[in-house]
Amino acid sequence: METLASYVGGAWVPCAGPTATLVNPATEEPLAEAGSGAIDFSAALAFARDTGGPRLRQMTFAERGAILAAMAKVIHDHRDPLIALAIANGGNTRKDAKFDIDGAAATLAAYADLGRSLGDCRILPDGDEIKLGRTSRLSGRHVRVPRRGVAVHVNAFNFPAWGLCEKAAVALLAGMPVVSKPATATALVAHRMMTRFVAAEVLPAGALSLVCGGPGDLLEHLGGQDVLAFTGSSTTAETLRSLACVTARSVHINVEADSLNAAVLGPDVLPGTETWHLFVTDVVRDMTQKAGQKCTAIRRVVIPEAVADEVAAALAERLAQVTVGDPAKDGVGMGPLSSAAQHRDVKEGIARLCADTTTVFGDATVPEAGYFVSPVLARAADPRTPVVHDREVFGPVATLCPYSGDAAEAAAIVALGQGGLVVSVYSDQRDFIAAVLPELCPQTGRIYLGSAKMAAQSPGPGTVLPQLIHGGPGRAGGGEELGGAFGLALYQQRTALQGDPSLFSIFL
Ligand code: NAP
Repeated sequence: METLASYVGGAWVPCAGPTATLVNPATEEPLAEAGSGAIDFSAALAFARDTGGPRLRQMTFAERGAILAAMAKVIHDHRDPLIALAIANGGNTRKDAKFDIDGAAATLAAYADLGRSLGDCRILPDGDEIKLGRTSRLSGRHVRVPRRGVAVHVNAFNFPAWGLCEKAAVALLAGMPVVSKPATATALVAHRMMTRFVAAEVLPAGALSLVCGGPGDLLEHLGGQDVLAFTGSSTTAETLRSLACVTARSVHINVEADSLNAAVLGPDVLPGTETWHLFVTDVVRDMTQKAGQKCTAIRRVVIPEAVADEVAAALAERLAQVTVGDPAKDGVGMGPLSSAAQHRDVKEGIARLCADTTTVFGDATVPEAGYFVSPVLARAADPRTPVVHDREVFGPVATLCPYSGDAAEAAAIVALGQGGLVVSVYSDQRDFIAAVLPELCPQTGRIYLGSAKMAAQSPGPGTVLPQLIHGGPGRAGGGEELGGAFGLALYQQRTALQGDPSLFSIFL
């Protein structure tokens, strides 16, 4: 069986115990072993800081952007084998796998473009010069410079390709070296990607390292110039936030955690209209794409009581057409959950949800072996039913929450999720949008406005775009990633310069 080495300190370090077995979640067949027991994490971080850091900092944004473009090309050149691995190790259908792998390449390419547009500079001014004295001889200006440490990226299991690349693209462009740790259960794709980056020699020494296996004492060695960017469950996030390096040494931490994303259907949207079809398509796609294992997937569907029966029927009809099975086989629309742990957790979550709601759909036949579940659409008699808003079931599961059609009521139901990554609002009525937006904005990192005018071009609310912020308040972790140039800030120190501005210009 394949064993996954880690790439740290500029070399491959073989897999060593304690090890975990990576499997094909459709068949439970073992595929590989991963273990990080042979890594000296302190030395690995020091190599990234002392070798990768200076090399990246001496490059301009345009030069760093060129590295990202080269990484995107490597992924593109190895697209088919990477897709095959995502199908085998992630339970992805071919479409799911493309979403992850093409999304990784597209995000790198978008940051490569940003690097090109920032050009031949190494330091970013932040805002304009500010006159502080009687004359402009005493002025102030903010600048952003790369932090001198290492960016440690701890990723979730659901997007092994995109997760690695979306974080690495931003940190590398900002000028920080990266140590990336994919979730162990689905690490094969990230590992294969790294072998291709190394073989193609697209990265300066120390710029990108990869840890396959558990975190060991990796995080204990972080200090005040380092960054920890985490994506995963809020339980793990809580543990990481209370680490001594974070509490005592002020390691900059960004958390992307759970989210009970909501879709709100406006009272103006009638069955059969273009906006109605967009809404139905988006909900079904979000429930079934990657078997619902998407942090941005719609979990709560807030719908006017007047059309609740029609919505339930339309969604159930579409869900019944989704074939659940081994994603390596033709005609399969939804694969298994990614791991045995996920399978246990989702089945338990479905049981708890169904105990307090009515099941609208949930009887698709699923294979006996493998980590399969049927898509489940529930309907809450009371839209405020606690389990609907408290427990993120990270699988193909959503709940209908009927409301009166009043914008404030819809927003109040969404708010029960206590902060999320994305809310989608489907309406063509300006009054409804104007009433609901100010209520929703503080609750979420992104709002997707589904309407007849944009329907033909819509990627759906579940697609995270490099140009827009990914992250959200409260339960979602309070973090911000991507968002074009916004994302660079996590990896940069903002410093105020104060004095004679002719001296600032030496620096900028
Ligand atoms: P998880 O169990 O929290 O694991 C996430 C990562 O943390 C994995 O790489 C894991 O490593 C690592 N980890 C676990 N305990 C750790 C510790 N004590 N110290 C350092 N690292 C540790 O989450 P998951 O099951 O992979 O992902 C599912 C969750 O992620 C869902 O709740 C979902 O909502 C959330 N998610 C959020 C986003 C977002 O962008 N907001 C995106 C995707 C997923 P091992 O795999 O080696 O245990």
